[in-house]
Amino acid sequence: KKLGWAIVGLGEFATKQLIPSFPLCKKSKLVALVSGDPAKAQRIAAENGVDPKNIYNYQNYDSLRDNPEVDVIYIVLPNSMHAEYTIRGAQAGKHIMCEKPMATTVEDCEKMIAACQKAGRKLMIAYRAQYEPYNLKAIELAQGGQLGKLKVITADHGRILDPAKPQDKWRAEKKLAGGGSLMDIGIYSLQAARYITGEEPVEISAMLHSTPHDPRFKEVEENVNFVLRFPSGVQANCTSSYGYSDTKRFQVFGSEKVLTLDPATDYYEHHLSLSGKEGKQEMKIKEENQFALEIDHLSECIQQNKNPKTPGEEGLQDVKLMMAIYESARKGKPVVIKN
Ligand code: NAD
Repeated sequence: KKLGWAIVGLGEFATKQLIPSFPLCKKSKLVALVSGDPAKAQRIAAENGVDPKNIYNYQNYDSLRDNPEVDVIYIVLPNSMHAEYTIRGAQAGKHIMCEKPMATTVEDCEKMIAACQKAGRKLMIAYRAQYEPYNLKAIELAQGGQLGKLKVITADHGRILDPAKPQDKWRAEKKLAGGGSLMDIGIYSLQAARYITGEEPVEISAMLHSTPHDPRFKEVEENVNFVLRFPSGVQANCTSSYGYSDTKRFQVFGSEKVLTLDPATDYYEHHLSLSGKEGKQEMKIKEENQFALEIDHLSECIQQNKNPKTPGEEGLQDVKLMMAIYESARKGKPVVIKN
């Protein structure tokens, strides 16, 4: 049996990527929508076979409690709203998938974990790259010794912020976004460094820069450069930016080979190569829809009562580390991380 999913927030990402991926899911089906825009919700429901009686808004959201067709709620709202809708969703007795970043404060992440625990419901953070085959291959190669001893990782995520678009308007507001390029896309660089090494950083140093007088960066930062030191001695040099052109890549430098994944965290396309003494070798594996894979992962965990691979604790760890990145930049010195 397929589990029933409700999507909360019918914005750019939900409508263009997530909703179209449901027909590819084997264990999950879209059965309900939550939106502040009734006309949009009606249209999307009709296009996707969702029963109009299963359209909710932000006021009657809690009455999802009375709808047995809905097993899981997927929160795809601006970052600072994730906590409230996760907590209310868990209190309505539903399992929760929540978009990245999990929340805008460590306290909110902890409240979300506690609420789901109290309700006896699963909480998963939608770190799609950890379900995507090329990233999984990169992890296997790096951790399986095929690159030799790992030395350095570089990871870069950038795009141009354009607040004329609705999805970028709230991203320029600190209250809704929590921060700038780091919280939005630098989190992919941070994630990559953590999942490639399989380690937690013990020290972080960071610098921020925003173009002076650029109105986009009045409240949130443009560029973040950060270095993570791992217990094994691996150091990761990461950047994120709202000012440089589309980049979503990482490289893993080992004593034998260098792995490049570029793009690494795109929606539908990935390029993996290994280079060493013998030259450069492209590796092709089958592209799969990562959204369907991650959605089905949570459904399977619910059906088999397993813990998701990327639970709330994983989202909390990234928010803690991003706060340390901001702290290091603010103080102008490295921050030691106590794990
Ligand atoms: P978006 O602005 O297109 O969508 C947000 C939705 O929330 C809109 O439908 C908007 O109407 C609704 N909303 C409700 N209350 C709002 C308020 N007070 N202010 C603004 N919008 C409000 O943004 P998006 O790009 O779809 O991002 C939504 C979430 O998904 C974010 O947390 C983002 O980080 C995440 N996201 C993840 C990925 C990924 O690859 N995993 C990609 C894009 C976005």
